[in-house]
Amino acid sequence: MAGAFWCIVEDDRQGNPKKVMAEVLGEAARLAGLMGSQAEAVWLTDKATPEGLKLLAELGAKRVWLFESAALSPYRGEVWTPVLAELAGKEAPQAILGAVTTRQRELMARLAARLGAGLSADCTGLTLEDGKLVATRPVYSGKLISKMTWAKAPWLATLRPNVFRPAEPQAGATSQVERPQIAAPAESMKLVERREEASTGLPELAEAEIVVSGGRGLKGPENFVILEALAKVIGGAVGASRAAVDAGWRPHRFQIGQTGRTISPKLYLGFGISGAIQHLAGMRTSKVICAVNKDPEAPIFKIADYGIVGDLFEVAPLLTAEFKKLLEK
Ligand SMILES: Cc1cc2nc3c(=O)[nH]c(=O)nc-3n(C[C@H](O)[C@H](O)[C@H](O)COP(=O)(O)OP(=O)(O)OC[C@H]3O[C@@H](n4cnc5c(N)ncnc54)[C@H](O)[C@@H]3O)c2cc1C
Repeated sequence: MAGAFWCIVEDDRQGNPKKVMAEVLGEAARLAGLMGSQAEAVWLTDKATPEGLKLLAELGAKRVWLFESAALSPYRGEVWTPVLAELAGKEAPQAILGAVTTRQRELMARLAARLGAGLSADCTGLTLEDGKLVATRPVYSGKLISKMTWAKAPWLATLRPNVFRPAEPQAGATSQVERPQIAAPAESMKLVERREEASTGLPELAEAEIVVSGGRGLKGPENFVILEALAKVIGGAVGASRAAVDAGWRPHRFQIGQTGRTISPKLYLGFGISGAIQHLAGMRTSKVICAVNKDPEAPIFKIADYGIVGDLFEVAPLLTAEFKKLLEK
């Protein structure tokens, strides 16, 4: 039997696997099934919950490798990587899949280097051809799509959120939970202080199914409340172009694009964003794109499914009011 298809768990730091795990585990289980193997989850945390373990089983993990220790919190790549590398050395998984998140982007690159294995980052498709994994990923800011495969196992890949079909939870499914011991990690860094920002009450940008995004056309930070009002009504997250971020109107973690986040929501609504290639790199795989811009020649209209030529300060409140009426019905 081929080695297992591992899925590295990304959690919310409260013991619950994030939504994207349904996509990564779904893909791991699908591919493992084709190779007569199984999907397994590897979870490094200081706090696992019974609900979290149950969810991993229901999403298709036949086995969960659980490393639960206070020494693993907060996440530090140099502490987590040797733990994962040691287990991979012993268990020889066929593939190790993760999600495109801030943490796993770094972790998977470190792990690949440690294992001397290949990593395909930001995959939008995975197939098996002649018994080998083939990854599809956008390159050059999404202008080209490349296909690549691995010279040797384990095959490491990070999956773009909201692209892969999520696993349907199978009620009552169980998994074998293994709790390997870990040696006390050698610390090269010490956490001095941790500050958490107050939640906006809106979904997280990378996981949101709807994203409302604002650019320089918003004219100032105070006007983002207009987009937040719309986002609240339709259950979306708020993102921004680099021009808005560079102007200090939004923190960098809200930036969409080549040097920001890559998103793939079901619906992207852009307000006062011209549609520069570097912005498109972060959102062009959105299922439906709707743009509002007062310039009919704005490049964003070339890739938009729906375009509204108009002043965002008129259009956004109108959309908010209409959605409110519709959704209240
Ligand atoms: C190496 C590199 C990396 C980059 N990375 C990124 C990245 O990650 N993300 C990113 O976004 N950009 C990135 N950029 C910058 C990018 O090239 C653009 O400069 C940027 O995306 C422009 O942001 P914008 O569309 O908000 O502003 P602008 O291009 O200035 O567009 C503003 C738009 O608002 C419209 N507008 C103005 N007022 C209104 C109104 N009242 N109602 C409706 N529409 C209105 C205008 O018609 C215009 O189209 C990068 C650039 C480089 C060189």
